[in-house]
Amino acid sequence: MNITFISAPAAGKGLLSSMLNEKYGFPHISIGDLLRGVDDEKIKKQLEKGEFVDNEIIAKLLKERLSKSDCKYGFILDGFPRNMSQISIYEDICEKANEKDNVIIVLDISREIGEKRILGRRICLNCGNVYNDLFVSSKSKVPGICDHCGHKLIQRADDNLETYDARYDTYLKETKPIIDYFEAKGKVYHVDGSLPSDEAFREIEKIIGGYNDQY
Ligand code: AMP
Repeated sequence: MNITFISAPAAGKGLLSSMLNEKYGFPHISIGDLLRGVDDEKIKKQLEKGEFVDNEIIAKLLKERLSKSDCKYGFILDGFPRNMSQISIYEDICEKANEKDNVIIVLDISREIGEKRILGRRICLNCGNVYNDLFVSSKSKVPGICDHCGHKLIQRADDNLETYDARYDTYLKETKPIIDYFEAKGKVYHVDGSLPSDEAFREIEKIIGGYNDQY
């Protein structure tokens, strides 16, 4: 089974993908993470500003990643497709994997909650744990230090208000039409992205539970 998450920034795609990966074993393919791993000044600047990276680069990175053996039985796509021009690349990927089901999940979130999540987000680069200084329930016990491994927490370079606003506007202009496109084909499931992650996860399990035989 292939699961594709499409959403506004900070709706929880990354976290829910990791949770699915942990429980079901499908590899979590985050386009943002693949791009952050590329040593290229132009790409770094685009990421910092929240601008879309060229389709040729995205297609190449995806092709390389999807050809690995761990993707044979399915994968989770986080952050792709993100604009209408990427739909043909996406449909090509789905066609190649046509023996598996493709499930598109849209995580819905308001601009205001997304903003709080972005501005408060703190990440541990050592163990991957994510915290949020603006939500009491998600703060680290000691400010700036990971509860789990004790390493210093960082703030992503693109987690600032200016970049968030640009990314949210880009989402409305570029990504929302993709949702409408797949919606018209009747292929989209919606989950409330503002729910606590364990509740959103349960909602997703209900959706993919319908495909249980395919795991
Ligand atoms: P994310 O980690 O999903 O929040 O993505 C971080 C950044 O990576 C985005 O703000 C874009 O600059 C870039 N990016 C992620 N996915 C795509 C995509 N499908 N096409 C182009 N650029 C992307």
